[in-house]
Amino acid sequence: MKRQTPKAKLPHGWSGRTLAGIRTKLLNWFDKHKRDLPWRKNRDAYRIWVSEVMLQQTTVAAVEPAFERFVKALPTVEALAKADEQLVLKLWEGLGYYRRARHLHAAAKALMKDHGAKLPDDPDVWAKLPGVGRYILGAVLSQAFDRRLPIVEANSQRVLARLFGYRADPREGEGKAWVWNTAEVILPEKRAGDFNQALMELGALVCVPASPECGKCPLSANCIAKRNGLQEAIPPKKKPPELTTVDEVGVVIRDGKKLLLCQRPGDAGRWQNMWEVPHAPRADGEDIDDAAVRVAKELTGLDVEIGPEVLTIKHSVTRYSITLVCVEATLAGGTFAAGAYAKAKWVKPTELAEYPVSSPQRKLMTALANPSRQRPLF
Ligand code: SF4
Repeated sequence: MKRQTPKAKLPHGWSGRTLAGIRTKLLNWFDKHKRDLPWRKNRDAYRIWVSEVMLQQTTVAAVEPAFERFVKALPTVEALAKADEQLVLKLWEGLGYYRRARHLHAAAKALMKDHGAKLPDDPDVWAKLPGVGRYILGAVLSQAFDRRLPIVEANSQRVLARLFGYRADPREGEGKAWVWNTAEVILPEKRAGDFNQALMELGALVCVPASPECGKCPLSANCIAKRNGLQEAIPPKKKPPELTTVDEVGVVIRDGKKLLLCQRPGDAGRWQNMWEVPHAPRADGEDIDDAAVRVAKELTGLDVEIGPEVLTIKHSVTRYSITLVCVEATLAGGTFAAGAYAKAKWVKPTELAEYPVSSPQRKLMTALANPSRQRPLF
């Protein structure tokens, strides 16, 4: 993959020397102020890849413990390729966007099959892997192999737009092309991986979305947004998505000391192959108990008698704000019928921790596994 470095359209008064100065100042700042993060301990390509996939759409604070857990259980691409998907999903718990984990797993298998355990320093190979877009490709190859490849994500995008005084939206249309072009132009010949990380780090720690700390910024003497007092206007604010509220009911079906756990289908929809207590939206004005009886029948084929409420969980999924009321129910008849779910198991509350589940379902299962909350089951 040969890409020519594009000609830069530099702000008025800037020269190649200005860019060189920016590079030096930012790298010096990074060397002094970078956070001590577990994936920065070495330049192992596998660890960098796992961390970068996790960091897409998830905060550093949430990624840190998940990363440690993941690489401890699956320390190499070989181990990941050989792992059962249920283990990969379990290790991904809490990070959300489980498609990323499935893609990572599939990509590890493809790499092992074609290239063995040593991750290749070859952009053409990486570009063909599932889940690898321009960001992941640039992040892994620049950090692991010092390839001069740019990255763009929310933090670096904001820093570049402010530094260059770019007034249009860098997230859309021509703005996207501008920001990728600029991220490439500004990269140094050496230490490209560190420079990419430095841009992101500056955006995370100093050039934050609201009230950036320009007084602490190594680039303040060059920054066009600062010079013109436009830090808050660049980049333009995005309208927050309108949330749709959804009322759901979840049914914890008991048979003696066991609960029914259902596995979602593996071929479509969200949370594929993961486990959960059956749940679905309530109809307008539908009573919770009536909805629970209906949901149990429609999703599992089972007849139930409704008991007390266990827990109410509020959470958001994309543009939906969901209130999930979970009620207990006793099995009254019927046998499980696959359809909505791929399969189901009757499990003890103490076994719930072994199954990969979504974050809201984990909250419910933690409550169910608490003897004081679910005395009849223990
Ligand atoms: S001077 Fe301020 S606005 Fe400009 S890059 Fe630094 S922190 Fe961001």
